[in-house]
Amino acid sequence: KYILAIESSCDDTSAAVLCHTNVLSNVVATQEIHKQYGGVVPELASRAHQQNIVPVVHQALAKANIDKKELSAIAFTRGPGLMGSLLVGTSFAKSLALGLNIPLIEVNHMEAHILAHFIEDENKSKPTFPFLAMTISGGHTQIVKVTDHFTMQVLGETLDDAVGEAFDKSAKLMGLPYPGGPLVDKYAKLGNPSAFDFPKPKVDGLNFSFSGLKTSILYFLRRETQKNPKFVEENINDICASVQHTILDILMEKLQMAVDQTGIKQVAIGGGVAANSGIRARLKEAEETLGWQTFIPKFEYCTDNAAMIGIVGYLKFEKGKFTDQSVAAKARYAIGS
Ligand code: ATP
Ligand code: FE
Repeated sequence: KYILAIESSCDDTSAAVLCHTNVLSNVVATQEIHKQYGGVVPELASRAHQQNIVPVVHQALAKANIDKKELSAIAFTRGPGLMGSLLVGTSFAKSLALGLNIPLIEVNHMEAHILAHFIEDENKSKPTFPFLAMTISGGHTQIVKVTDHFTMQVLGETLDDAVGEAFDKSAKLMGLPYPGGPLVDKYAKLGNPSAFDFPKPKVDGLNFSFSGLKTSILYFLRRETQKNPKFVEENINDICASVQHTILDILMEKLQMAVDQTGIKQVAIGGGVAANSGIRARLKEAEETLGWQTFIPKFEYCTDNAAMIGIVGYLKFEKGKFTDQSVAAKARYAIGS
């Protein structure tokens, strides 16, 4: 069985071919155009998807060495995401499935970030049910209880900015280019995480808030640069280390709370921020001191990619969970709905 998967929810156009749980190809065209605007511009994203989708799908089939006539089904991201972006992938998937007369399978992007843990990878162990999943990316921050492949419950999520956004906006305040997350990580390695103190938000339960942190960093930097115009330049490592330390404290406190509440000690992380070396170190520490088992997929399956859409496609294919041609893209699409 070969499944073609298509992802176009935000600013990456991606197509993958899977054979069962094995990824034969996973092609991602990242849209560079947004860099000059310091964030994703929806209208430009949807235009770039239109340009990219045919060549990206062709490349995915060619790399997998599969003819489209050999495909068993087409899986696609229905939502959540930018409407204009989702429409491109959704329409393309619908017409291809119709043309080839094979089943169509809709996929929730957030469920796919979680089920990416089940992509075949001989170097990684997989979580067993039930487990906790934390998705941390540029657009999302969620803790989810995963009971089985298709039963998930959101325990908490961000009330304002996503964690990746918190990294990127803090970086922007320090004058670093977009997306600043990886740079904050890089400088943080050289700095002192206790050099500066930033207040942590008081949010009840398992929800998150990151917009207050951004504001306090703004005021802090403004105050310090008034005293010393070269403050940021001279202290970039310490500022990055302190900002990152605060963000990671927030994430780890909520994870710990989720573990305590559910009694589940398997914690699976996904999303682009999972690349952060600090969060990886904290998780390792929690394995040693708290007896957690933690999981992070290969990096290419953490950022937006079609392989994770394909694994959900495969799991749904096995259960006969197909979608008919009347399906429409859904910009807001909660897990489990
Ligand atoms: P979505 O939210 O739909 O997954 P996205 O494209 O915004 O889409 P990702 O591609 O998953 O998100 O992740 C990008 C985010 O991850 C950016 O905010 C980026 O700054 C952040 N990021 C990437 N690497 C690191 C790192 N090493 N440390 C901190 N943040 C990082
Ligand atoms: Fe995503």
